[in-house]
Amino acid sequence: MTQALTPLSLPPVPREFGFFVDGKVVPAGTRDLSERRSPAHDVPVTRIPKCTTADLDAAVAAARRAFEDRRWSGLGGAARGAVLLRAAALIRARAEEIAYFETLENGKPIAQARGEVMGCADMFDYASGLARSLHGDSFNNLGDGLFGLVTREPVGVVGLITPWNFPFLILCERVPYILASGCTLVVKPSEVTSATTLLLAEILTEAGLPDGCMNVVTGSGSSIGQALIEHMDVDMLSFTGSTAVGRRCVEAAGRSNFKKLGLELGGKNPQIVFADADLDDAADGVAFGIAFNAGQCCVSGSRLIVERSVAEAFAQRVQAKLARLRIGDPLDETTQVGAITTAAQHDIILGYIQSGQEDGARLICGGEVLDTGEGRFITPAVFTDVTRDMDLARDEVFGPVLVILPFDTLDEAIEIANDTVYGLAASVWSKNIDTALTVTRRVRAGRFWVNTTLAGGPELPLGGFRQSGWGREAGVYGVEEYTQIKSVHVEIGKRTHWGE
Ligand code: NDP
Repeated sequence: MTQALTPLSLPPVPREFGFFVDGKVVPAGTRDLSERRSPAHDVPVTRIPKCTTADLDAAVAAARRAFEDRRWSGLGGAARGAVLLRAAALIRARAEEIAYFETLENGKPIAQARGEVMGCADMFDYASGLARSLHGDSFNNLGDGLFGLVTREPVGVVGLITPWNFPFLILCERVPYILASGCTLVVKPSEVTSATTLLLAEILTEAGLPDGCMNVVTGSGSSIGQALIEHMDVDMLSFTGSTAVGRRCVEAAGRSNFKKLGLELGGKNPQIVFADADLDDAADGVAFGIAFNAGQCCVSGSRLIVERSVAEAFAQRVQAKLARLRIGDPLDETTQVGAITTAAQHDIILGYIQSGQEDGARLICGGEVLDTGEGRFITPAVFTDVTRDMDLARDEVFGPVLVILPFDTLDEAIEIANDTVYGLAASVWSKNIDTALTVTRRVRAGRFWVNTTLAGGPELPLGGFRQSGWGREAGVYGVEEYTQIKSVHVEIGKRTHWGE
């Protein structure tokens, strides 16, 4: 376990970071700096360089050299796995520092950040085994004259673009799997939460990752991110963020080099609660599912689809749970819900709370800006009298805003749950195994929870159906995404000549 630095206080001066190319920290030099202010305290906490496209080209070139000379992909899986295992140990050793900067830049509670960092170390542990167990297939059933092999090979240079809601967790759900496959990479974290990605680059180098295998360029999405998605020498791009930018990735891949894409995009995820559920557990799960990380999760349970006979009483239980949440200073060890990460996101959330009411939905609790003197905090909002055509019921708000949609029959619950362009995640709460399994089989979502929510681990893949994205991250499936398949045909004995 980590040792807390108590009491936690704000840094006296913002920490300056360089970016990371070819195994070395590159100081900002004459480049412009992006200063990040803590969303909870409104004081400067980090300064990060705004990289140029020449910096990006240098990072991609370093990743290309490292890939082509096989300094990483040419190693045995055991050697690659050993680096990942050492990285896991170093993440644990530096967990407090990583969690601190995650909280300062993102606004999430420190206790949550510490838990996430430990989960990230576990990702590296697990992926180290995958580096050794990744394998292909063989075909011994092609007749005496032919033998078939299927090999998996790393895709090459991967571009990785990560968002600001789980800067370190989303990074670590991808990086160890990418490295386990033998690929090299260039990461572009969100400009507002780049610090912990830069710390990971240092850690991997210390763990023995050869130079050039992990590079980090910093700067805005519209400049450096856009240049990365268009880059002609990037073989695959993994993007996590909004559906709008996901669409840009698809367009850019089509315009450039048809790079392979992995996309994890938005969600409007149902929490389906039946009257026969343990309603106290379900209320706890629904409150957690919408308020965790201030609702800024792609897998937040933002649509409560609840059996009408218990809907009102259940809404009261959820309200009671939300009313008890400790919202506020994320550096306080007891805080459960921290700040809204960006000013833009704060405005988006408040905009939905207002327009939802204008459209006729009824706000039954929350939705208020907490007056803490500094920082951005919104109390979790719950809406009833919501119709399925309202923006509030259809759009990803990406904040602590829950809509309640009652149902009468199992078929209706499934129909409402599937009435979305997304398909990222879903939860069902019922003690009836037939009900739970039927819903699980018929609702379209890449991640499913039965009588729980937001659970996970390195073994289980992540990703969405429909407009929630393409491909899977994490687990065996995740590492396989970063490989391509080669079929090898081996003739045995004398060739039968053409026409003879
Ligand atoms: P974005 O999709 O804009 O940001 C995600 C990542 O993409 C960031 O690293 C960002 O960089 C980068 N990016 C932005 N524009 C481009 C571009 N043109 N080319 C390449 N990369 C780019 O999300 P926002 O921060 O704008 O949030 C808006 C909405 O997106 C939220 O309200 C939410 O609905 C959704 N979202 C979903 C997430 C998920 O996990 N599925 C995560 C984050 C947001 P930078 O931040 O430096 O600009």
